[in-house]
Amino acid sequence: MKILITGGAGFVGSHLADKLFNEGHEITVIDDLSTGRYSNVEHLEGEKNFRLIIDTVLNEKLMEELIRETDRVFHMASAVGVRLIMEHPVKTIETIFRGTDVVLGFCSRYRKRVLIPSTSEVYGKGASVPFREEDDLLTGSTDKHRWAYACAKTLDEFLALAHWKETRLPVVVVRLFNTVGPRQTGQYGMVVPNFIKSAIKNEPLTVHGDGTQSRCFGHVLDIVEGLTKAIESPECFGQVINFGNDEEVSIKGLAEKAIAMTGSTSEIRYIPYTEAYGEGFEDMQRRVPSLEKAQRLVGYKPTRTLDDIINDVAEQFHDELKAETAKA
Ligand code: UDP
Repeated sequence: MKILITGGAGFVGSHLADKLFNEGHEITVIDDLSTGRYSNVEHLEGEKNFRLIIDTVLNEKLMEELIRETDRVFHMASAVGVRLIMEHPVKTIETIFRGTDVVLGFCSRYRKRVLIPSTSEVYGKGASVPFREEDDLLTGSTDKHRWAYACAKTLDEFLALAHWKETRLPVVVVRLFNTVGPRQTGQYGMVVPNFIKSAIKNEPLTVHGDGTQSRCFGHVLDIVEGLTKAIESPECFGQVINFGNDEEVSIKGLAEKAIAMTGSTSEIRYIPYTEAYGEGFEDMQRRVPSLEKAQRLVGYKPTRTLDDIINDVAEQFHDELKAETAKA
């Protein structure tokens, strides 16, 4: 099949590209390399079944051509990371919503199967753990910029479901919960790469707040497995489905585990949220997915644990540091 992956040089998109390429599909990646990295797909360049186009999904003429000629669309292009959202709120809202509008519009015109990733951020401050797809969404006031990301993604979800409702566009919406693994950079503030990189360098790990807030981290390889199944399952069309892992850990616990597993001598430093993100930030205390729907619809069950994640990410950073030292 011909498969188009927007944001295919990004963290999740590039793992998806690898998986689908290895299954023998013809892959086109469109990425403007804003947060994606060429190195994530470099190994695929030059392969007959792989094409990289460096451009934005807002280039409508190009997107129309690409979507018309493809069989499946994974719209992985998005602004990512809480830090980016706090620093560039205008760009975040625009790229998320306008990009999805362009993709869904052409998928509708040419009747193409499409997967739209959303995020566990949309559950916001919801307190009824675990989060189920039909739960109410509870975000904060509009002067707390963090919630712009959740609201833009919520609007994407509404638009996708509206296309399904009006014309039965075969679209699947997936809510990704803290997806982590090799290739994710710490540059946009994500906790797992930052902690592991600091631990390996024996530098302090910075915990925001008191570290009692918790998350569930899903290994990117489990996630891409779920996404490829979802787009092939007609029962998933017009549905919103959580994907992630339901093993919960406090951020303090994560820091301790990262230090222990890497044999690090790092200390843990606690800083207030305002120091990390500036004013206008609110965090959520817990975020746990219900995976019941993903299990029921596509038999999804994460197979990789937090220990596997830490080992895989640590291995990547060890390799990168070795390469840096060799160059120096
Ligand atoms: N966090 C932290 N130290 C860091 C980066 C993040 O304590 O260096 C915290 C952050 O405030 C949040 C949690 O770790 O409570 C997860 O942050 P991340 O940005 O990875 O994902 P989020 O769940 O906030 O989207």
